[in-house]
Amino acid sequence: MFDTLSDRLTAVLKNLRGKGRLSDADIDATAREIRIALLEADVALPVVRSFIAGIKERAKGAEVSQALNPAQQVIKIVNEELVGILGGETRRLQYAKNPPTVVLLAGLQGSGKTTLAGKLARWFADQGQTPMLAACDLQRPNAVTQLQVVGERAGVSVFAPEPGNGVGDPVDVARRSIEEAQRSQHSIVLIDTAGRLGVDEEMMQQASDIRDAVTPDETLFVVDAMIGQDAVSTAEAFRDGVGFSGVVLTKLDGDARGGAALSVRHVTGQPIMFASNGEKLEDFDVFHPDRMASRILGMGDVLTLIEQAEQAFDENQAEQAAQKLGTGELTLEDFLEQMQAVRRMGPLQNLIGMLPGANQMKDQLANFDEAHLDRVQAIIRGMTPAERADPKIINASRRQRIANGSGVRISDINDLVSRFFEARKMMQQMAGQFGGGGGGGSRK
Ligand code: GDP
Repeated sequence: MFDTLSDRLTAVLKNLRGKGRLSDADIDATAREIRIALLEADVALPVVRSFIAGIKERAKGAEVSQALNPAQQVIKIVNEELVGILGGETRRLQYAKNPPTVVLLAGLQGSGKTTLAGKLARWFADQGQTPMLAACDLQRPNAVTQLQVVGERAGVSVFAPEPGNGVGDPVDVARRSIEEAQRSQHSIVLIDTAGRLGVDEEMMQQASDIRDAVTPDETLFVVDAMIGQDAVSTAEAFRDGVGFSGVVLTKLDGDARGGAALSVRHVTGQPIMFASNGEKLEDFDVFHPDRMASRILGMGDVLTLIEQAEQAFDENQAEQAAQKLGTGELTLEDFLEQMQAVRRMGPLQNLIGMLPGANQMKDQLANFDEAHLDRVQAIIRGMTPAERADPKIINASRRQRIANGSGVRISDINDLVSRFFEARKMMQQMAGQFGGGGGGGSRK
């Protein structure tokens, strides 16, 4: 989403590197280029002004630092100002003292509310909560059914008005959903409300009525990051019409400039709490201003990577694999497990995109073929446990059977097996050199 902005800012800051001293003129020129980059990315004017003023003031008044050269200091200031514009600290969700915690979702039709309801529900469930979705969009045909489908996919219950009772009253449904959650001991109720294509009085009124009836712990304004400058005016309309305690940016995977979405925090004073970057349930994350800033500035998002890695890897399994790696005893079974763990973290392109310097590798990444990994997994899955443990036994007839079973060519299997042996041989040599101690601290 922020690729162009990221490219521009990285280029501007790169120009500073290697300069021993920065004059006021250097700082002014840098600020001017940053200003253009932000405006071109659709960042709202008041936000740009405050950002640039902050940078100029701090850069010119910067103390002489022992640790950083002047260029590094400017980069640090730009990063800190960007974090500030994005909201500073990560804002955590407020839970009710007495469950259920009620979360109201508001936003225009098509902003991604229903999709988000499923993602949030899944996220809550992963945090050990027991969420329930409440279908209070009774305006749009199929909205209730859509939420039911989303709920099923996320594996959470959905409270919906009984069919056949006419259109129904969304305020009443919202109220009853809370009673139902108390009765059935759900700890979270996520209320999906009706949206319109544009801001309108009736929609605002309905959302306010629901808000008054259920007094939510959080009201989240859901905004499509691809609607450009309209994001800012829509956010202002919702702030004045319904009020909200947090913002969710959706469709950050789109190729629009996205700067308007970056302005929402500054313009409304409310924090961005979550970000959605795709149509699938897992394309979603807590919004961390510091990580987003370093991503935009091309410094990589190593923290997100670490967090995802922690979630995806089973520590014991990783430890065992590390030991086997150390002694060169790796089998195809271990290899498959490791590959699955890495892939649970998401598409490799996304993972690599989070690493520092990944911007420069964009072209190679675009050509990376995820299907190749699918083939490798299919081949290993097509093997018997004995074959996975000892690939040496895979003779011609076994290769034919595996190829038939996994729908690949025999040459793909030959390729995989010979590469596996090469890798294992290399590990054994390394293990020999380093004394064969495991990676798990068993070295004497
Ligand atoms: P609602 O009208 O606000 O409930 O919006 P929906 O949840 O129905 O979403 C509208 C469309 O946007 C659907 O086609 C979704 O699949 C799609 N969508 C939602 N979130 C995202 C996202 O983060 N990225 C992309 N690419 N599409 C999304």
